[in-house]
Amino acid sequence: MATKEPELIRMGQHSQGAFRWPDAPDPDKYSVCVHCGFCLEVCPTYQEWTDENHSPRGRVYLIKAASEGELPLDENVINPVFTCLDCRACETVCPSGVQVGALIEEARGQVYHARPKQGVAGALERLFLRGIFPHPKRLRRVAKLMRFYQTSGLRTAIRKTGAIRVLPRHLREMEAVLPEVPAEGAREALPGRMPAQGVRKGAAALFTGCVMDVFFADVNEATARVLARNGLEVRVPKEQICCGALQVHAGDREQARAMAKHNIDVFLASGVDYIVINAAGCGAALKEYPELFRDDPVWHARAEQFSAKVRDISELLVEVGFDPPRAEVRRRVTYHDACHLCHAQKIRQQPRQLLRAIPGLELVEMPDSDRCCGSAGIYNLTHPQMAGELLERKMDDVPEGVDAIVMGNPGCMLQIKVGVHRRQRQADVLHTVELLDEAYRREGVKG
Ligand code: SF4
Ligand code: SF4
Repeated sequence: MATKEPELIRMGQHSQGAFRWPDAPDPDKYSVCVHCGFCLEVCPTYQEWTDENHSPRGRVYLIKAASEGELPLDENVINPVFTCLDCRACETVCPSGVQVGALIEEARGQVYHARPKQGVAGALERLFLRGIFPHPKRLRRVAKLMRFYQTSGLRTAIRKTGAIRVLPRHLREMEAVLPEVPAEGAREALPGRMPAQGVRKGAAALFTGCVMDVFFADVNEATARVLARNGLEVRVPKEQICCGALQVHAGDREQARAMAKHNIDVFLASGVDYIVINAAGCGAALKEYPELFRDDPVWHARAEQFSAKVRDISELLVEVGFDPPRAEVRRRVTYHDACHLCHAQKIRQQPRQLLRAIPGLELVEMPDSDRCCGSAGIYNLTHPQMAGELLERKMDDVPEGVDAIVMGNPGCMLQIKVGVHRRQRQADVLHTVELLDEAYRREGVKG
């Protein structure tokens, strides 16, 4: 999916200091910050470094100063913009409603053009963001290579010979916990249409995602079963592509817009009542598609129409009224609030409602369950030290005696799997919908 590079803003046309490309940080967003500092204590990077530049207030100030020409777009601005996890914890507590996440993403868009990444890192980033993720067939080929690595004996050989040690620790740990890649993703495996069971409550198109469908296709399949079980006709549009969240986080907004346009066309054409997603990061990105088109009235209107239909799976089940399962799942679990579910989408109670409705399941709350685990898109790959420290704090908070840690985002699932592996804890890492699906599947099964 080729995209056209934007032209520099012509003189006098919305030119904002150091931010000279279209889609610059919006003054309406940063000007509402009243510098109260309420956000400092909840910011994971400020908690770790106690450096104002790496706090929400500091980042907003730096973006404003660069916008107004008081600071150049150099490392003093770029570094804090990229150490941000985009976790949005600051937005939850901000009394002025500063959209820190959107400002960070807009600023990264400027950096993407002003200081394109060079060398191997830049080439790899462009390969994945533009050459692989927007193309489901290429992504599937990469997934098949990973499956070959996992199932052919190559992985065992590489581990036995010690060759795996050439990788840094965080990549070795990630490799150790990667789930086995299935032969095909749910986008291919599921039928294009699954009938609703019982009283029909509408039609829902399943957004299968990229990481979710490569590593957790079983979660997508469970989502489809749970939707159908609760009266929703399920459609799986085969032409859908990745949501573009990774591109937005990296600052490649042109590519993200191209991907958003494709998905908007595909899903609006399906004529469904709801677009359902089970990955918190992708859900937030889909709901925020209008942000990408703030200067394009036609596409902005289509993006609004699209995002109005988007629901997280837990949100939709509570909204339409789900059937409490009748069968027991005897487990003691804790719940981790994925940042893009609790802070970006304000969804906290619905996953807990689903879990508490499962007979036999005990939910033990985790302290600071809404503090970032360090996953944050690909932050755990680009900033392994900070991501590792946040993971340690998260694992310290997992209550003793639970046999599963539950959440609603594939990035968090991979990150917390690393934590479980590191601590050698006997706990599964599960998506909320997997437990609900298990309860439904046990109905009518004796034993
Ligand atoms: S809480 Fe909001 S208004 Fe207060 S300093 Fe932070 S971003 Fe600014
Ligand atoms: S998004 Fe998260 S890491 Fe970034 S400034 Fe806000 S609280 Fe800090």
